[in-house]
Amino acid sequence: MSNCAIVGINWGDEGKGRMVDLICADYDVVVRYQGGGNAGHTVINEYGKFALHLLPSGIFHKDVVSVIGNGVAVDPENLIKEIEYVREKGIKLTPDNFKVSSRASLLLPWHKELDCLEEQRLADKKYGSTKQGIAPFYSDKYQKKTVLAGEILDEKAFFEHLIPIMEWKNLTLEKVYGAEPTTVEQLKQWYNDYCLKLLPYIGDLEYFFDNAKDFDKDVLFEAQLGALRDIDFGIHPYTTSSSTIAAYAPIGAGLPSLKLDKIIGVVKAYSTCVGEGPFTSEWFGEEAEKLREAGGEFGAKTGRPRRVGAFDVVATRYGVRMQGATEIALTKMDVLSYMDEIPVCTKYKVGDRITEKFPFPSLLPQAQPITENLPGWKTDISGVRRFEDLPKEAQDYVLYIEKQIGCFIKYISVGPERESIIIR
Ligand code: GDP
Repeated sequence: MSNCAIVGINWGDEGKGRMVDLICADYDVVVRYQGGGNAGHTVINEYGKFALHLLPSGIFHKDVVSVIGNGVAVDPENLIKEIEYVREKGIKLTPDNFKVSSRASLLLPWHKELDCLEEQRLADKKYGSTKQGIAPFYSDKYQKKTVLAGEILDEKAFFEHLIPIMEWKNLTLEKVYGAEPTTVEQLKQWYNDYCLKLLPYIGDLEYFFDNAKDFDKDVLFEAQLGALRDIDFGIHPYTTSSSTIAAYAPIGAGLPSLKLDKIIGVVKAYSTCVGEGPFTSEWFGEEAEKLREAGGEFGAKTGRPRRVGAFDVVATRYGVRMQGATEIALTKMDVLSYMDEIPVCTKYKVGDRITEKFPFPSLLPQAQPITENLPGWKTDISGVRRFEDLPKEAQDYVLYIEKQIGCFIKYISVGPERESIIIR
């Protein structure tokens, strides 16, 4: 059995979805192992353009089994809607090619509402949540105040477990936020409309993976967001609420004893960041506007304009280390083709210190970027398929970044389509 994780090195939106879509044909199983429907993977292939939120990007390959692991926040409503959305576009999902771990916890009807209420309460101090209920979900998961997907099977036991949790949560809704409580009728409706429809796909994945090992199946792990949004190693508190790190993949997938063979870190050729929090190499004004337009930098889930800036060597080197990346996919190189010179952030100034180390989160807001300009190539490179055919300046840009971040850049993507890729 060989396996590989595809993970984000930066703040998310690096183009992981297109990389999974590209290489998953070489794997038998593709697993989402953390996060929830709060980010979007954009995939463009022969079926059209898709924004996937919960479904693994492997669903487009008919011989691949797509799996949602126990580490994922499974929102039955969003998942069923997403299954219907891809079905309408001709994708076949059956219990044979799509599975949800019985040990995945369910995102409950009040989690999204609590997310919105808390962001409203925080007002200008908000975390920039996508309001998909992810933070309330994970905090409840670790308080053991959710139910597992496998519990849907037994309706009576499901409600015996869930109703006391609802009563507990109503205290918060009513007494803390002055909001409407959830009713048992609403919960039953939610169960009938969404949970029951998930039932055919739910299974004990620990055994599925044991079999996969015995039958020498190859497994690809698909992450959401990036290292800088990791709950432990990210830019606290502007992180997500789960572990985005490759080392968590075997646990969140249901194969806790597995050692990863390969870790592909996905990095954009410039920086982008959705939501709040320190973003040292950020650009503003016209310069930012141009890059945002060139790269189509608007969130797949929210449509929010992404914050953009120069490639950040300091943050990326840190991300590569945290992920333990064995190779890199550098995406969106084509977007930089309009620039005469390409600024790259190589160091930070924190107080009166110059540093190449990614600072402790509470020091990040004071960090100032130190940039170098590299020559641009000013040629459309979207049709290039071999490294040698890239303009010299573009080759040098790749080699410069590779040296700075200390990891081999194996893939360079020059367009969003599956085939727009250079493999070294
Ligand atoms: P993910 O969450 O990491 O999968 O990233 P997103 O899907 O949120 O964002 C990546 C965006 O960039 C998507 O709109 C992709 O279609 C697009 N994209 C990916 N690779 C390339 C590329 O090489 N060039 C261009 N122009 N767009 C790309």
